Amino acid sequence: MALEKIDPSTLDPAATIVVATGNAHKLVEIEAILSEALPGTRFVALGQLGDFDDPEETGTTFAENALIKAHAAVAETGLAAVADDSGLVVDALDGAPGVYSARYAGVHGDDAANNAKLMCELADVPEAERTARFMSVVALVRADGTELTGTGACEGHVGFEGRGEYGFGYDPFFLPNDTPGKTMAELTPEEKNAISHRSHALKDLCSKLADEA
Ligand code: IMP
Repeated sequence: MALEKIDPSTLDPAATIVVATGNAHKLVEIEAILSEALPGTRFVALGQLGDFDDPEETGTTFAENALIKAHAAVAETGLAAVADDSGLVVDALDGAPGVYSARYAGVHGDDAANNAKLMCELADVPEAERTARFMSVVALVRADGTELTGTGACEGHVGFEGRGEYGFGYDPFFLPNDTPGKTMAELTPEEKNAISHRSHALKDLCSKLADEA
């Protein structure tokens, strides 16, 4: 889904939030939830304002990386920005792949290789010990540099084989506790959004915004 380009000079800095993602689906999900807490705000994707290099994700926590991405977008645009960082945390692997989820097998975004490595690492781990959670932190950084973060989790376990056509990343191998017997990739986007780590993180951020008001 290609997004239209926007001339930054046409935007009202007091009523605009830049979403630091290249993923149009994330823009829609973030806008849908945050606009409840921030009525009248226009949400634009960073890529709509120009071509910017992704900052290096040098953090060791989801919060650090979300803040790195949001601060970089503020520095590039002068506008308030929201960014998220997420990943899969597996108990039997001491929290791996964690913040390295996107590049677990070495190449950034190679879902098939990442899932193959996950199956390999968990080959001898029985079902009862395959507990895991998707984690997400959403960071809002305002033009004056002030920060607010929301955190969310989706608890479940890692299966033994991949199933399902929806979603991305580790979805075919992750079975949320909220949807017994179904992998995340067997849920429609609406079903996933209702239980996902990202939607919980966005709602947490919304309640912090409401506390500020
Ligand atoms: P990012 O924070 O969106 O860049 O996600 C980092 C990595 O975590 C992705 O490349 C996926 O491997 C994994 N991940 C994050 N969220 C999800 C999800 O909702 N489903 C499946 N994998 C996810």
